[in-house]
Amino acid sequence: MALRQAHAGPMSTQKNTPIQALRESLQAREQQLRRELEAAQIEQEQQAQDAEDLPREPDANQTHEVSDREVRHAELLRDQQELQAVRAALQRIADGSYGECVNCGKAIAVERLKANPAAMRCIACQTQAEAKA
Ligand SMILES: [Zn+2]
Repeated sequence: MALRQAHAGPMSTQKNTPIQALRESLQAREQQLRRELEAAQIEQEQQAQDAEDLPREPDANQTHEVSDREVRHAELLRDQQELQAVRAALQRIADGSYGECVNCGKAIAVERLKANPAAMRCIACQTQAEAKA
């Protein structure tokens, strides 16, 4: 794969966010998450199958398995939520509202978008939202 140097002329404006690069990383992230979720789903189906085939385990073992499954489940939920956020960000790129805070409408700092391309809120609003949560 050939790497192209970003072309930034001396007159390039600060307002021009590197949306193309962000979109590419969002798309890559979407694919990765989708693969992870698909793999997890297959794994879960296999586990369900195994559980049916196996004779009943003693209780102690079962407890351990359940907590493992709960951790897996929490991870899956996080992946699903991130996938939704990534898809929403791609949608905002498509409709031209990407890079604006969904809460106050101000531009989200490019540095923040680079660190988290799916960010929906500016740092001030995100901090507020997290304080409330
Ligand atoms: Zn904001």
